[in-house]
Amino acid sequence: MPELPEVENTRQYLLRSGLVGPRLGAPEITWAKTVHEPSVGEFIEGIAGRHVTDLLRRGKYLIAPLDDEQFLVMHLGMTGSLRIHDGQRDPPAMVRHTFPLDDGREMRFIDPRKFGHLWLLPDPAGAMRKMGVEPLEPAFTVPALVEALAGRKAPIKAILLEQSVIAGLGNLYADEALFLSGIHPERAANGLSDDETRALHAGIVEALSNSVAAYAAERDAQWPDPPVALSPWSTPRSVGEPCPKCQGSVQMIRVRGRSSWHCPSCQPAS
Ligand SMILES: [Zn+2]
Repeated sequence: MPELPEVENTRQYLLRSGLVGPRLGAPEITWAKTVHEPSVGEFIEGIAGRHVTDLLRRGKYLIAPLDDEQFLVMHLGMTGSLRIHDGQRDPPAMVRHTFPLDDGREMRFIDPRKFGHLWLLPDPAGAMRKMGVEPLEPAFTVPALVEALAGRKAPIKAILLEQSVIAGLGNLYADEALFLSGIHPERAANGLSDDETRALHAGIVEALSNSVAAYAAERDAQWPDPPVALSPWSTPRSVGEPCPKCQGSVQMIRVRGRSSWHCPSCQPAS
């Protein structure tokens, strides 16, 4: 599932591919449920003829301001991806939606499981629930993390997945941040020591920054094809694999239903 680094990779890819500039034609929407607001007809009419003026990211959402002060908001869901191709090239399988550009190319929304989302709104906040701090922005400080975790007794793993606490983390990078900081996924979020909270803050930033950098390097290496689904984390994710820090055996437990890989030696439960 695309998390912050994957969505940021998509944003950088679309910017470099020149999404900002050309005029959009009427999009072809083949799975109506992807469009949440307004109606599909209004969505198509509202996009046609507009220019994208920028491309922003908030958590796992991509936000494209248009030149009429509306916002095209896109969420990749579980398996979605976006590509810009010239119209001649064979379309990849599972293209659900196509946004023609007036330079002869088109942006394709590929979405095998059809869990992606689209909106056209006067305010992008209307597409998302309350969003927490952006973990790669300067506002994400140790005190900000302390404040976000205060009073939260739930397992830290579950809290890290709440987009209203920290925007953009998903299962993989939450596991990685906890592994890097040596914190067991079932520890109570409000039970971390000051040192542990500092370590967790550093682990979140390191996990995401490493991945963003890995995607950037791969984008350069394989341009114009964007990298997909890199595995730039250090937490082993198969049973019996040795922990890269202590050579112990990593384990998987379910925390609120989500698989959580960890090393019981490096991430003690208490
Ligand atoms: Zn270990």
